[in-house]
Amino acid sequence: QAKAAGRNTQRFFDPAMQAALLARASLEADLRQGLAGNELFVHYQPVVDARGRVQGAEALARWRHPVRGFISPAEFIPLAEQTGLILPLGRHILQVACAQLVRWARDPQAAHLSLAVNVSARQFRQPGFVAEVLQTLQASGANPRRLKIELTESMLLGDLECTIERMGQLKRHGVGFALDDFGTGYSSLSYLKRLPLDQVKIDQSFVRDVLTDPNDAAIVRTILALAQSLDLAVVAEGVETTGQLGFLRLHGCEQFQGYLFGRPGSAEDMDVLLHA
Ligand code: C2E
Ligand code: MG
Ligand code: MG
Ligand code: MG
Repeated sequence: QAKAAGRNTQRFFDPAMQAALLARASLEADLRQGLAGNELFVHYQPVVDARGRVQGAEALARWRHPVRGFISPAEFIPLAEQTGLILPLGRHILQVACAQLVRWARDPQAAHLSLAVNVSARQFRQPGFVAEVLQTLQASGANPRRLKIELTESMLLGDLECTIERMGQLKRHGVGFALDDFGTGYSSLSYLKRLPLDQVKIDQSFVRDVLTDPNDAAIVRTILALAQSLDLAVVAEGVETTGQLGFLRLHGCEQFQGYLFGRPGSAEDMDVLLHA
């Protein structure tokens, strides 16, 4: 106890640490303001099938800071999770995503698209989450069958029964579920079997060196075989080269996302892609 207190005291007077804390506090204030001031918006990245046809997209949060310019979600999402701002932020992204689904539903070239939304553990665990999703779907008129929720393995650290129950409630309305960044977290195979998932997404860190690193190749093949035996669809993330695509297809992967097919872009960029 005394040792911990000593460490904290020392930390408090460490100038580098103090500067980092101040920067974080100021970014938090900026994020709060940015949310109110419409600085946050959504980009869409296409998800394609083995023939390159666009099957859907992933909604990715973007923040244009008035002074610092674009800030990566890898920076502001963890901050939003720590501060609770992920709740209003997540609600905003979900509303934008549902509105986009409604626009796509009116376009014959886009009516088949599904849209995946990332939901962090804190957001998913908040008591009103299921009601909020259903309400947002209903208010927008979006088809629940076109909405996919991406969860990460960090979800499995909490109350698993509660997670399964919530997923089930949304699934009964047609909402789909994907396990994001699969292989990087805590999943055990028994958990994977118990969750009512539709899909797993192979993390881009395994795809990157799949042609040169035998360990990554083995992991990717194993995930594909496992998903097949559990009857789960697979999306490979971070596909940048035709070589990676070839390997993934050879081993049974049927959906792909990555710069090879399209970078995250605006809704207008998606329209251009769909009407090409
Ligand atoms: P993610 O959900 O795994 O999203 C995929 C990330 O891979 C995106 O990064 C995307 O831009 C990037 N990516 C896609 N294709 C390629 C490729 O071919 N090569 C490379 N190198 N990267 C590729 P992004 O947009 O920076 O997002 C980072 C993470 O932030 C996301 O990872 C997700 O975990 C989180 N995130 C983004 N938006 C939201 C959101 O609305 N809510 C929550 N909770 N998390 C979000
Ligand atoms: Mg994702
Ligand atoms: Mg991912
Ligand atoms: Mg990721």
